Amino acid sequence: MARFVVVDTAEELAWIGEIELLLGNGSNLLAPDTGLPGTVVRLGGEFRALDVVEEEGESVVIRAGAGLHNSVLLSRLDKLDLGGLGCLAGVPGTVGGAVAMNAGTALGEIADRLVAIEGWIEGRSLHLSRQELHMSYRHGDIPPGLVVTAAFLRASRDAVAAERERVAQHLQRRKATQPLELPSCGSVFRNPPGDHAGRLVESVGLKGHAIGGARISERHGNFIVNGGGATALDVMRCIRLAWDTVYRETGVRLVPEVRVVGQWPPELWPLPP
Ligand SMILES: Cc1cc2nc3c(=O)[nH]c(=O)nc-3n(C[C@H](O)[C@H](O)[C@H](O)COP(=O)(O)OP(=O)(O)OC[C@H]3O[C@@H](n4cnc5c(N)ncnc54)[C@H](O)[C@@H]3O)c2cc1C
Repeated sequence: MARFVVVDTAEELAWIGEIELLLGNGSNLLAPDTGLPGTVVRLGGEFRALDVVEEEGESVVIRAGAGLHNSVLLSRLDKLDLGGLGCLAGVPGTVGGAVAMNAGTALGEIADRLVAIEGWIEGRSLHLSRQELHMSYRHGDIPPGLVVTAAFLRASRDAVAAERERVAQHLQRRKATQPLELPSCGSVFRNPPGDHAGRLVESVGLKGHAIGGARISERHGNFIVNGGGATALDVMRCIRLAWDTVYRETGVRLVPEVRVVGQWPPELWPLPP
């Protein structure tokens, strides 16, 4: 049965049963227009807490609830005069989503600052160190079915002002190069080694190409924006067109970064291996 539940406490999480999708902020996710048949869960309440758990000299370990938005995390750290997580500036997701996707920017990735996670799977809680997660580029290697409930992150009291400066410059650069004023599902493809997915999509002449209300951004070839009234199917058709054209014309098989969930017409998804 389709249902959407916001879970505020560990007791509620224990009670919820089988979860089809753990939704963060949905900023790197594409679901069909018809929705999902099972239970979609979002973390609220106690899963949005932030605590300092360890302090040693300049180094501070914080425990951040997985439902906390990155922007809230960063502004709360700023008020505590703590830095170290500038790599999440401008990434419009949650702490749980950042761990699951190993989110990052030119300033680094969350794996650089992650100490461990707390999670929930098959009715029990567990604690995994960063090493056990085998994180790689835009990949958190979260075991299937695991709900990340909190992340232990290494913040710092060192060079906070210098980091603020780097973050401000980075946010300005993003504004100039990414279509942040229109809704999108984030980067569609991972950058292949030594190249950029956006450059490849641009090289095959697809920037600005529209299908229904969805359009491959004129500003950045790896973003598909909703110019008004786009359906998820329009976005998926753009993804498939970009993948097929890049493969045909350059031989590169792009790997999706966006997490695609639910049932799709088989001629569109999954992509060929
Ligand atoms: C305009 C724009 C700019 C972006 N820029 C960047 C960028 O610079 N760098 C970058 O890395 N990403 C970027 N993204 C992509 C996206 O913001 C990140 O991938 C982000 O980390 C996703 O977090 P989320 O909370 O929105 O996760 P969602 O999109 O909701 O989910 C993504 C995946 O994570 C899983 N997940 C979420 N929370 C949990 C949890 N608690 N436990 C287990 N699994 C979970 C979901 O099930 C899903 O598989 C951008 C997106 C947009 C729209």
